[in-house]
Amino acid sequence: MHGQLLVVSGPSGSGKGTVVEFLKKTPGYDFSVSVTTRAPRVGEVEGVNYYYITNERFEELKQAGELLEFTSFCGTSYGTPVSEIKKAEKLDRALVFDIETEGAANVKRLRPEAILVMLIPPTFQELERRLRGRKSESEEKIANRLAKAKQEILLFGNYDYIVVNETGGQEEAAKVLDAIVRAKICLAAGGPKNKADEELLAFVSKFETKSHPDVVEKFFCN
Ligand code: 5GP
Repeated sequence: MHGQLLVVSGPSGSGKGTVVEFLKKTPGYDFSVSVTTRAPRVGEVEGVNYYYITNERFEELKQAGELLEFTSFCGTSYGTPVSEIKKAEKLDRALVFDIETEGAANVKRLRPEAILVMLIPPTFQELERRLRGRKSESEEKIANRLAKAKQEILLFGNYDYIVVNETGGQEEAAKVLDAIVRAKICLAAGGPKNKADEELLAFVSKFETKSHPDVVEKFFCN
């Protein structure tokens, strides 16, 4: 029972949602369903994307210690129920968390064995293009999202891995995340046992934050 925890963060425009959707469809993965006080968006389903609760219920869960971590993001409360982690512990599956930077740091503090991955777009220009491409938001909102994205990406040092989500490359990025999880399981089971394991570890090491600290510099300069 490995119950590996995989925390994925990435700013709005990083394509994180689509990458996580690919991962959810990969055998061996389960998704940590958070509670939120915001209303469901079109297409979102109760118990699948989130548990949608009132501010009062959120406070109750917080006071009762039933949230592993929680945060307030753009005026909405989000939290990870402790019950989600318990679910992973019973399963031979990896549990994927789609949470922002503060929550990610808290999960790492409480569960040091969790893998933290930051997903970023290839360049700042591309991030801007993606956000403008939505055409649904005011100039002010776009400027806010860009500023928030900058802040979040600058926290990359807290993450074990940085994965660049190339345009149209969400499935590839999901495969990298899967490789990262498999590499961690391989190491926990005593290290590489054959050539395929060695290749897996070599592949994954290319995404380690410590082995390419310039990736974020490149992101801001291009
Ligand atoms: P959205 O409203 O777009 O679904 O999510 C907004 C942000 O909240 C995203 O960055 C998402 O990763 C983050 N988020 C969702 N659930 C949680 C949670 O339980 N804890 C924390 N810390 N962040 C969350």
